[in-house]
Amino acid sequence: MGKSPDIRIKTPEELRILRDAGRILAGIFDEIKNLVKVGMTTGEIDQVADSLIKRSNVVPAFKGYRGFPACACISVNEEVIHGIPGKRVVRDGDIVGVDIGIIHQNYYSDMAVTLGIGLLEPGRQKLLDVTRQALMHGIAKARPGNRLTDISHAVQSYVELKGFSVVRDFVGHGIGRKLHEDPEIPNYGAPNQGPLLKAGMVFAIEPMVNMGLARIKVLSDGWTAITADKKPSAHFEHSVAITESGPLILTVK
Ligand code: MG
Repeated sequence: MGKSPDIRIKTPEELRILRDAGRILAGIFDEIKNLVKVGMTTGEIDQVADSLIKRSNVVPAFKGYRGFPACACISVNEEVIHGIPGKRVVRDGDIVGVDIGIIHQNYYSDMAVTLGIGLLEPGRQKLLDVTRQALMHGIAKARPGNRLTDISHAVQSYVELKGFSVVRDFVGHGIGRKLHEDPEIPNYGAPNQGPLLKAGMVFAIEPMVNMGLARIKVLSDGWTAITADKKPSAHFEHSVAITESGPLILTVK
């Protein structure tokens, strides 16, 4: 974590726009969940995302970001995050991470879901359930008076209690007028460290959880992160505002 992060406190008007952006993005995900089927390629899933984004009158945030070529990051099974959509075919029993960012009225929203395709082997179903629940445990710590790594610690301790491992190489982040703002939000670490959380901060919290070991590697495409042991990995993400009364998940309808 860098020194003294510059964490922007959003105004009520900014929070209203971010809430609208999150509602739009959650709606896009609702449709994607219904449209992704066995036999589709990840490139076709990205086309679905592209058309839903266009129809929602928002701008895809990832396309062109540091040269990323698509609207969605789509990461299948052993792919952790940042999978580039292409010819890979989605099969029954796969888990498919879909991560999308949008820009609405100059503000960003970021969300990821890992979809189970068809009937999952029980270990994979547990991986999805634990990752989704780890995100909720992290979000529950996003309240004024806590410190940043209370989020990190809540994620890690839950994941490890359930016998899985958290990825160290990628972190959550602040979000607002930029896709990636301060602070970085690790998914591991001791509690009660880092900046005090305050109302008006907005974070993208995004645990990546591996069924096997935590170690990952990045493929020669420069983007796709896979597990070093080739075992499955899951990823869930919400954009979340800290309010006086606690966390407010922005990326829900
Ligand atoms: Mg993110």
